[in-house]
Amino acid sequence: MKILTIVGARPQFIKAGSVSREIAKHKNIKEIIVHTGQHYDTNMSDIFFDEMKISKPNYNLNINGLSHGAMTGQMIEKIEEVVLKENPDWIMVYGDTNSTLAGAIVSSKLHIKLAHIEAGLRSFNMKMPEEVNRILTDRVSNILFCPTDTAIQNLQNEGYKNLDCKIVKSGDVMQDGAIFYKEFATKPMYNIKDSYILCTIHRAENTDNKERLKSIFEAINTIAKEKQVILPLHPRTKNIINKLNIDTTNLTIIDPVGYLDMVWLIDHCELVMSDSGGLQKEAYFFEKQCITLRDETEWVELIEIGANILVGANKDKILETYKRNPKFNIKNSTLNLYGDGKASENIIKELLDYE
Ligand code: UDP
Repeated sequence: MKILTIVGARPQFIKAGSVSREIAKHKNIKEIIVHTGQHYDTNMSDIFFDEMKISKPNYNLNINGLSHGAMTGQMIEKIEEVVLKENPDWIMVYGDTNSTLAGAIVSSKLHIKLAHIEAGLRSFNMKMPEEVNRILTDRVSNILFCPTDTAIQNLQNEGYKNLDCKIVKSGDVMQDGAIFYKEFATKPMYNIKDSYILCTIHRAENTDNKERLKSIFEAINTIAKEKQVILPLHPRTKNIINKLNIDTTNLTIIDPVGYLDMVWLIDHCELVMSDSGGLQKEAYFFEKQCITLRDETEWVELIEIGANILVGANKDKILETYKRNPKFNIKNSTLNLYGDGKASENIIKELLDYE
């Protein structure tokens, strides 16, 4: 069996890393990795392949720095060329980026089977580019690997049981990675205090909205007066805060870190404050309370159990929530929200069994 994996952005390298490790156990499966180039900086891309020991991409399309339309269009064109040459049995896509959508479109045009990992997630906010990408990708997938019961339910609500596709609850591939890499994580070489908040901000809904971004930074910069706030800064956010001259004086800003450093930082922090999708779950995997700087989330089960609090971008609301001093208070072992760390194994088994 030949699987053509499409990745382009940081979280996809992490997720695909776990699945690649599983694929490598099977002599009868060949994986071809296509890197679209969406994230290309060393510390947003290469470091993940090096540290996580993922095979280097077979193709690097080097498509970046363009508008959504131009980027997606070029990806479709280039991925199609690779697929025609490689003729895989499956195209495998992850999550909700433009690379995901481009892969999905190529697969449907060329009638190559499509496996979507992280299917069924919904924020119900059609203004998010990610929401559009995931809905369109789900619709043309042959197998939809859902991480959660909520994701399965979302698909049922959209009438998927009447469609010719297979829906599988695989669990979350991100949990596989968190479990696997935890033992390799060591303390990063930064000035890290005993107690700190780990923060990331990069979502377009925050970075592309001046008011929201300013409000979030005012809040975290205020918190940082009394508690260290470590912020590995995404290049997109960095450009915008420089342009807007946003005050970050109290924050401990560092460059984006590799996954091993990130795992250590999550595992040792007191609180996570973020607008990242992945980090909300990782906080839970490492039993850390999360405050999410968005108006909605795809990971609603974490809100329901109180492990995550959705605050949006309002400064007062963020400060008020922080001052309440929320603590992680969930017995992890009693819950199995994201599977048992065997999502990659489940996925590969399904593909091998697929008629
Ligand atoms: N991450 C990382 N280094 C960083 C920031 C994030 O390795 O400096 C990891 C994080 O732990 C998570 C993934 O990148 O596994 C999430 O990526 P991001 O927040 O960019 O995207 P999202 O999950 O929101 O799609």
